[in-house]
Amino acid sequence: MPDLRPNEPRSMTVDEFLESQTTQPILVTMEPVQNVPDKVAVRPYIEGARCLCHLILLLSKDNIASVTPTGKYDQCCGKPRAVVEIRFKDGSAMPLPDLFSQLGSSLAVSISHSGLGARPSH
Ligand SMILES: [Zn+2]
Repeated sequence: MPDLRPNEPRSMTVDEFLESQTTQPILVTMEPVQNVPDKVAVRPYIEGARCLCHLILLLSKDNIASVTPTGKYDQCCGKPRAVVEIRFKDGSAMPLPDLFSQLGSSLAVSISHSGLGARPSH
């Protein structure tokens, strides 16, 4: 899959910008979910970002139309992870209670990692 993003920054109208965002490929890394064969753990991929494991969402494989390997690899938690472009099926959705409970656990992980939730030691 060729990288279609322009190398040089160029000016564009707001509408062009918004349009370019909606057509931007969604890049993720993914891994199997233990004991849940119909779901996959999907982690957003952002070039140069460090571990984004706290942003993992467990998605139903049914919602994913296709994945396209980009040939790139991300290093996360000491493991190389293939970066793929993900396409979702039209009208794919996840139940909101599911989404919010996942966001809640992700936030808990994120807070414990950043130390924001830690009690003062003195
Ligand atoms: Zn990680």
